[in-house]
Amino acid sequence: MSTPELNFKHVSGDVMRVLIVGCGGYIGSHLLDRLLADPQIRLTGWDPNTAKIMNHLSNPNFRLHQTMLSSENELRAFRQEARSSDVVINLAAICNPSEYNTNPLSVMRSNFMEPSRIVDICAEENTWLIHFSTSEVYGRTLQSYVDDTSYDDPSLFEFEEDTTPLIMGPVRNQRWSYASSKQLMERYVYAHHKQNGLPFTIVRPLNFFGPRMDFIPKRDGDGVPRVLACFMAALLDRKPLQLVDGGHARRTIVSIHDAIDAIESMIRNRGKAENRIFNIGNRDNEVSMAQLADLMIETFISVSGDETYRTHPVENVSGQQFYGEGYEDCDRRMPNIDAARTLLGWEPKTALRDILTETVAYYFDLYGRNSSDSHASPVDV
Ligand code: UDP
Repeated sequence: MSTPELNFKHVSGDVMRVLIVGCGGYIGSHLLDRLLADPQIRLTGWDPNTAKIMNHLSNPNFRLHQTMLSSENELRAFRQEARSSDVVINLAAICNPSEYNTNPLSVMRSNFMEPSRIVDICAEENTWLIHFSTSEVYGRTLQSYVDDTSYDDPSLFEFEEDTTPLIMGPVRNQRWSYASSKQLMERYVYAHHKQNGLPFTIVRPLNFFGPRMDFIPKRDGDGVPRVLACFMAALLDRKPLQLVDGGHARRTIVSIHDAIDAIESMIRNRGKAENRIFNIGNRDNEVSMAQLADLMIETFISVSGDETYRTHPVENVSGQQFYGEGYEDCDRRMPNIDAARTLLGWEPKTALRDILTETVAYYFDLYGRNSSDSHASPVDV
C-alpha cells in the first residue's frame, strides 16, 4: 500500500469518519474487517443484516443502523450522519442474477430509484461518495457483435473506464435491467458532480471472489446466486456443475482481499481517487466458465481429500433453462486497470488457484465438513 495522503473534510484529530450503506454484505463485511483494524477510523453503517458482521457489533468504533435506508426517518438520520462524515460508501444493491430477468422492477427500484436519494443527499451535503457500480455496465464487448470470436484486437474487447462504450441488448432481454439501472446510477452520480459539484468515485468491480460471497442455496439463502456459489452448492450437494450455454463466457477473477486493498487506497488517497471511475479486477486471472468448473472440482478435491469427486459431472444448460426468459450473457470482461495502478499504486497479487483454495476451504468448513452425506452418497444427477 502506498503512504496515506490524509485529505479529509472533517478532520478532528486524526480520526476519519466513514459511513457505509450496505455494510453487512459480502464486500461490506470485508471492508469492516480492514477499516476497523485502524483505531483512528469511526465507522457508521446501515444494513438490516448482521450475519456476516457479528464480530464487529461490540466494537465501540462502529455504530450500526440495523435497518433499510428507505423510510423518510432513516433518510433524515442518514443526512445527519453524512454531514459529519469524510466519506460515504454505497454498497447496497441486489446482485442476484436470477432476479434480473424475473423480478426486474425490484432490481430497478433497488439499484436506481432507492439509492438515488443517497446520491442526492451526498450532493446536498457536499460529502464525498464512493459508489459501487458493476462491470455489467459495460454490457457485451464490441467483439461479440461481429461474427468472429478471435479477440485479436484489444480495442474490441478491453474495458477502459472513460472510453469504452456501454453496450446492452434489447429491452426484451430483461437481463439488462440490473446493468442499465447501475449505468443510469453512474450517470446520475456524474450529473450531480457536473451540475452540483458532488465529489465522487465510482468503482466497477470485476468478479470479486472470496469467503462470504453471495449465499449458498438451501443453506443461507434462496434463488440463483453468482457462479462461484452455484458451483459450490453443486459440489456440496453432489449435483452436476451447470455450464450456461457451454461455459464459453470468460471472466477475470480478483481476490476480495486485493479488492479491499484498492478501496482502502482510495479512502486514504482522496486527492487521487476523487472524481474518477476505477475498474478493479485482475487481468491475469481470466478463465472461461468451463475452466472455472474444472478448477473448482480440482480445488474441492484438494480441500476435502475426497477422491470420489474425480468423476464429478459437469453438464450444459441453456441460458433460458437456467435463468428463464430474457437472459443474455456478457461474453468477456477484460479490464484495463491502468487508472488503479497509476493513481492508487494498486496491483492485484493473488493467483486464481489461491483465491479458489481460500474460498472453497471456507465453504467446505462451513457446510461440507459435517455434512452427513458429503462423503457417502453417489452423485445425484
Ligand atoms: N454461470 C454458469 N453456471 C452457473 C452460474 C453461472 O455457467 O451455475 C455463468 C453465467 O452464465 C455467466 C458466468 O457464469 O456466463 C458468470 O455469471 P455470474 O452470475 O457469476 O455473474 P456475472 O459475472 O455475469 O456478473
